[in-house]
Amino acid sequence: MIPLLFTLITLPYAPDALEPVISRETIEFHYGKHLQAYVDNLNKLIAGTEYEKLPLEKIVTDSQGAIFNNAGQILNHNLYFTQFSPVNAENHTPKGAILDAINRDFGSFDSFQAEFEQKGISLFGSGWVWLAADKEGKLVITQESNAGNPVTKGLRPLLTMDVWEHAYYIDYRNRRAAHLHALWQIINWEEINRRYIQ
Ligand code: MN
Repeated sequence: MIPLLFTLITLPYAPDALEPVISRETIEFHYGKHLQAYVDNLNKLIAGTEYEKLPLEKIVTDSQGAIFNNAGQILNHNLYFTQFSPVNAENHTPKGAILDAINRDFGSFDSFQAEFEQKGISLFGSGWVWLAADKEGKLVITQESNAGNPVTKGLRPLLTMDVWEHAYYIDYRNRRAAHLHALWQIINWEEINRRYIQ
């Protein structure tokens, strides 16, 4: 028996709650199959190793190879899936400290969105585009390949878009740009602000 070290997160919404931006079918595959597989793989890989007792973020910063890939993908997807709320929610525009920081570091929310989408579109292959904060609270956008997460650069991850094809191919086929642009409709900025000020 492999001990249950990490478990699949619970989604803070119903599987069809993000439609039409992300379909129930995409949630069933992306969360139900891809993320579940990363959890199962990591549990097998770390059983009986020094990583078994470490928190997820520490595994990501301290490992390489298959353990890093699976741990990184769990951390990335946990942050990704918990940053959304349904289209009709009232938290899809930034307010408070995160809005002040966006205006300070990118000039305006529109400029930030344009740069973020462009960095998602131009990321070659599979990976993630991130909004992250440094130790002084300054915001940066980073592109990370494969399972990368800005924690490995000493940054705090705040918001992310997954540009692996599995994130959008069911709903958008090859139209990555359309998918990234649509995701703003379901970003929960209360959650992003909470991550920023904590
Ligand atoms: Mn993914």
